[in-house]
Amino acid sequence: MKQVEKAIRDLLLFIGEDPEREGLRDTPKRVVRAWREWTRGYHQNPEKILRAFEDGGENYDEMVVVRDLPFYSHCEHHLAPFFGTVTVAYIPNGRIVGLSKIGRLVDVYARRLQVQERLTRQIADALDTHLKPKGVGVVIRARHLCMESRGICKQGHHTVTSALRGEFLKDGKVRQEFLSLAYTPH
Ligand code: ZN
Repeated sequence: MKQVEKAIRDLLLFIGEDPEREGLRDTPKRVVRAWREWTRGYHQNPEKILRAFEDGGENYDEMVVVRDLPFYSHCEHHLAPFFGTVTVAYIPNGRIVGLSKIGRLVDVYARRLQVQERLTRQIADALDTHLKPKGVGVVIRARHLCMESRGICKQGHHTVTSALRGEFLKDGKVRQEFLSLAYTPH
């Protein structure tokens, strides 16, 4: 802990700041606390979160869609924030899960160092593994500060990634229904 605070202090010196000035004196402590929260996902278990209801799902085989869940993550290349929204859909196969749990699942993987492609895949794979649905689709739209703030891409530009499993891959109609939902801005 003290060692990490020291590292943050060194970073302040490195950028030409005075770590002793009023506004910065408690910054190392605050940064360490913030990073604990931003990386809390390493200590959380997706299987526990996704404990499914076996009841109620058996008669339901329509697509369940949760649109535009906000997420906040950090890229593993620059430790810079990337953030945006996740749209998740699945077709139940006897098991359904509370909608709020999908948001918590997204956080488990977003609150780690990430690349957007892996984040997308991990959410899809967790649902696939623990719910065993007929299919899963995940689309993430995100802005990356490491790119935007350094002028590498235009401000407001969104990077879009998707991961499809099961019927979302095999059935063109299902895929089309999901992707048109996920890609339509509203
Ligand atoms: Zn980056």
